[in-house]
Amino acid sequence: MQNHYPDAIKVTLIPGDGIGPEITQATKEVIESLDVNIVWEEYNAGLAVYEEKGYLVPEEVYTSFEMNKVALKGPITTPIGTGFRSINVELRKRYDLYACVRPIQSIGLVPSHYHNVDIVLFRENTEDLYMGLEEKISDDEARSIKVITRLASHRIALAAFDYAIQHNRKKVTVVTKANIMKLSDGLFLDTVRNVSKAYPSIEFTEILVDNMCMQMVLNPNQFDVVVTENLYGDILSDLGAALVGGLGFVPGANIGVDKALFEATHGSAPDIAGLGIANPTAMLLSASMMLDYLNYTKEAKLLRHAINHLYQDKDNFTKDIKGPLNTIEYTNKLIKIIRELKGE
Ligand code: NAD
Repeated sequence: MQNHYPDAIKVTLIPGDGIGPEITQATKEVIESLDVNIVWEEYNAGLAVYEEKGYLVPEEVYTSFEMNKVALKGPITTPIGTGFRSINVELRKRYDLYACVRPIQSIGLVPSHYHNVDIVLFRENTEDLYMGLEEKISDDEARSIKVITRLASHRIALAAFDYAIQHNRKKVTVVTKANIMKLSDGLFLDTVRNVSKAYPSIEFTEILVDNMCMQMVLNPNQFDVVVTENLYGDILSDLGAALVGGLGFVPGANIGVDKALFEATHGSAPDIAGLGIANPTAMLLSASMMLDYLNYTKEAKLLRHAINHLYQDKDNFTKDIKGPLNTIEYTNKLIKIIRELKGE
């Protein structure tokens, strides 16, 4: 296969913790089978690093990402209710990776109540209740501040509508709770409405988040591109995952002006970490989004095609969907399919 890049592209690779190292190893092997000219700059970050060194992210991770501008990341554990801020939120904020893009798509014969789900969710990634602006008023009262700005709302709306145009999508739906949060969600809604006027060929619809949850469960096929705020986007991503077989199947990209970080929607799955049974599909699909971003379009398509092909056979399923394969067996099977599709 011909390389588009004579010089290797350096990508920062953060395996993360929990199931992160297992699915990262699988992803590295699969990417290698695609013959792309990528070299990984691999760094540990997360809980294990914290326990050993007292910090979560070594400085080299930031330096590497600032140089390479592209990163692939495994999940990182965020202990609940401690002073320890999520690294994921920190990286998105520090590098202004404002657009979180999550395709929620049915794959092959993966068991689900639905078929042909094809939603692309655009989640605003830098503000809302994720700003970490919390204050304890007393032992019996705490407050979180929700921040919504026109700037951030405008650019996520543009990202969603531009995507719709570029990918021949028909409809964009904005999700808010503007009937209750009239100022903050009202501002988000007003901004997206204004942006929608510049895209007359795209149908534009509005829905409240509670109804959206019900509608997605009742009939997900009515949605196409969806744009929403940070918290609603987080929740709808997991709800969406349940429509296409679970968290093992939903990839993600965090995109900024000149940098992008690709990672699965799921977390570090501590309940199955180290057992060798994690499903690497979501991370592989995230890697395919990274290949698209790097203009390795043909290889990205080949990878998605191979994954779809693999899921035509129930004997290729991993344990999370009641199949027989562990992570390594799945990886070897996928590489075999890629080689066959390449005619090797
Ligand atoms: P989770 O996504 O880790 O797990 C939820 C359930 O889905 C678990 O039963 C798990 O076994 C299963 N699951 C998830 N991914 C899977 C996969 N690839 N293959 C098979 N099964 C899979 O969610 P959680 O338990 O709420 O969170 C665990 C930790 O991950 C928390 O510390 C959370 O903060 C962190 N987290 C990190 C990220 C990230 O790094 N981007 C995202 C979400 C959660």
